[in-house]
Amino acid sequence: MLKALGHFIGGTMVAAEADTDGSPCGRWNEVFEPATGAATARVPLASRAETGKAIAAAAAAFPKWAETPPLRRARIMFKFKELIERHADELAALISREHGKVFSDAKGELTRGLEVVEFVCGIPQLLKGEFTEQIGTGIDSWSMRQPLGVCAGITPFNFPAMVPMWMFPVAIACGNTFVLKPSERDPSTSLRLAELLAEAGLPAGVFNVVNGDKEAVDTLLTDPRVAAVSFVGSTPIAEYIYATGAAHGKRVQALGGAKNHMVVLPDADLEQTVDNLVGAAYGSAGERCMAISVAVAVGGIADPLVERLAQRARSLKIGAGRRGEADTEMGPLVTRAHLDKVRAYVDLGVAEGAELVVDGRDFKLAGHEQGFFLGGCLFDRVRPGMRIYREEIFGPVLCVVRVPDFDSAIELINAHEFGNGTAIFTRNGNAAREFARRIQVGMVGINVPIPVPMAFHSFGGWKRSLFGDHSVHGPEGVRFYTRLKTVTARWPTDIGSVNSFMMPTH
Ligand code: NAD
Repeated sequence: MLKALGHFIGGTMVAAEADTDGSPCGRWNEVFEPATGAATARVPLASRAETGKAIAAAAAAFPKWAETPPLRRARIMFKFKELIERHADELAALISREHGKVFSDAKGELTRGLEVVEFVCGIPQLLKGEFTEQIGTGIDSWSMRQPLGVCAGITPFNFPAMVPMWMFPVAIACGNTFVLKPSERDPSTSLRLAELLAEAGLPAGVFNVVNGDKEAVDTLLTDPRVAAVSFVGSTPIAEYIYATGAAHGKRVQALGGAKNHMVVLPDADLEQTVDNLVGAAYGSAGERCMAISVAVAVGGIADPLVERLAQRARSLKIGAGRRGEADTEMGPLVTRAHLDKVRAYVDLGVAEGAELVVDGRDFKLAGHEQGFFLGGCLFDRVRPGMRIYREEIFGPVLCVVRVPDFDSAIELINAHEFGNGTAIFTRNGNAAREFARRIQVGMVGINVPIPVPMAFHSFGGWKRSLFGDHSVHGPEGVRFYTRLKTVTARWPTDIGSVNSFMMPTH
């Protein structure tokens, strides 16, 4: 019998209703180890009532937590940071086992999440507000940021630690309480983080994890006790979350899918560009929202670029990526269904007439024949009308589009429906500057392939990669999880009447 996971509600791990009410049915999903293809656990899919319990716990904890001084909230975050550092190997192994990314990549993801915790350790400074003395004679004015209430987070499978940590540390440090609904494909990391937060001293009910699918999500989107929803996932669901949450009066930020282009100008350093492109396209098996999935080769660099890329894509070191396998570059995809979907996109590209220079469809890892592995794939002469160009594949498939000049590269990217990340590789400072100014994309790299903003800046795309007005973490995160109140105050000027304002002494 597979291990049954539960939920984390009101400061403790609770078994799913399906486990405790004697009914053998309930709704469950299996969680797999992608490297072996074996099921490792069962995750419950919460009912509306179970999700309601998590919301109720968060609502009950809110008044006291909101009143807790920011400095005390920060002290808990300092302890949480220490605990994550102490358990980093254990957490990375958990991420790697359920997601499939290599151990070093899992460590990297954890570090990026940890940086958000470090950022919010400075929450007293971040919530200081603004004050203007003497806006009129005898009148002062100040603005303060106050928490919203119960906030919900709904997260994707591809960063089971980092994406939740883009959200809940900021929300909690700002004085909100939180209900997280992690991906049902790799839920264990969130449950472990909840335990560590409790160990750090977070009061019961401030952070809750409810496992589930659409039923849990729809409950969070419609329950009047939830004030705000943060979502990260695919674009169709992001759009649904934004529309439904907003229709129910909630503040919503919904980050969606991507198709990130890297422009390679003819003056770029070829070896350096190829190194960066290979890591950005095939790292984490392409299952990153900031992965580069399109290389835009400008002018005469196309032939040498494709030739070098093909050599590298053919010799990618693919493995289970467990701890100690230091040189593995790429692991398996997350599920068999996702593997089938990515493989079908490669078939489609061939049918659409793109040139499949490297074909990884038949890759098998010796000893892991049931694992969800795909070899690196490289398409050349991809055209903008093709579905493999327009749609997000989310796998180790890199498309090369050839364009004649710099302006065509900018037009191509600006015409795409997604606008998450992009990069340019060049030695020409002026071209890079023009690119950064004219490109309609939220995060831009100049000779940096995956320009993920650090925790003290904010992360977010443009166009159909983000619905809502706020990016995540950094200053935007603090704005999203607080609302502004501005006070204008005048006190009586008659000093003689001051007694009536004094504190009673008996
Ligand atoms: P997904 O959209 O399938 O799932 C995301 C979350 O939504 C999960 O928690 C899932 O349970 C829930 N969900 C799924 N279907 C739903 C439905 N019909 N109604 C309500 N909730 C539903 O995404 P995924 O496959 O887990 O993750 C990959 C996607 O996430 C990619 O598109 C990737 O680009 C995107 N992503 C974006 C960013 C970003 O910053 N923009 C970051 C990471 C991942």
